[in-house]
Amino acid sequence: MTCSRLSSCPRVADPISSARMNEDRPLDPSYHKARFQQSAYSLAQLPSDSGAEVAFAGRSNTGKSSAINALTGARQLARTSKAPGRTQQIVLFQLDENRRLVDLPGYGYAKVPAALKKHWGNLIPAYLDSRRSLVGVVLIVDIRHLLKPMDEQMLALCHQASLPTHVLLAKADKLSKGSCAAAEQKMRSTCKDLGSMFSMQQFSAPKRLGVEQLTAVLDAWFATHRAPPSRN
Ligand code: GDP
Repeated sequence: MTCSRLSSCPRVADPISSARMNEDRPLDPSYHKARFQQSAYSLAQLPSDSGAEVAFAGRSNTGKSSAINALTGARQLARTSKAPGRTQQIVLFQLDENRRLVDLPGYGYAKVPAALKKHWGNLIPAYLDSRRSLVGVVLIVDIRHLLKPMDEQMLALCHQASLPTHVLLAKADKLSKGSCAAAEQKMRSTCKDLGSMFSMQQFSAPKRLGVEQLTAVLDAWFATHRAPPSRN
């Protein structure tokens, strides 16, 4: 895959350090102002490629919607479901006129029709590679299972596209503290070659564990972004 964004998009050198530095400051209230903007089935249906957006990606049922809801403080903004594979649209939430959160379709659900899998299998890499307003990707993985092959593919796509990527090790409330620490250590070892644009943290939506850290990472991504001229 070629990367059209390498020379054009400024990046945060070390988002996790930024997150740590900001740990004590209050939550950015603008995430609480998030509201549904639109959904899209193709790149052409996306809003103008200007401003800045952060995408949320992950396997179906890992807690992507719950993470967005925890970040925004809205229980039902991104609808959560016990049934995997439901969200088969790109869903955009507007924070303000320049900033968006983007909920990408969950992947890895066996019952999704092959044609739909193919559609998103082509569209998501194209989105990651070409979307200039995309300043970072939050990848949600279940801390009990860590990376599945499709998560590895997603990480590789983000890396190739020089996109800052922050992994949420979600459902941390399902393991003991010691098991969470061991899982995080294993993940750090697996991802040690991904460089300074990669970071991770533990997360639990129902316990709101890690919401401040996630907020700080997004703040750092949004703060450093200077949007290039729109191509739309
Ligand atoms: P999505 O398909 O990735 O958007 O996943 P959802 O956010 O809809 O979550 C799928 C299921 O996992 C729902 O039953 C959630 O309540 C549950 N869930 C999500 N995040 C967490 C978490 O951090 N801890 C626990 N215990 N359950 C979670």
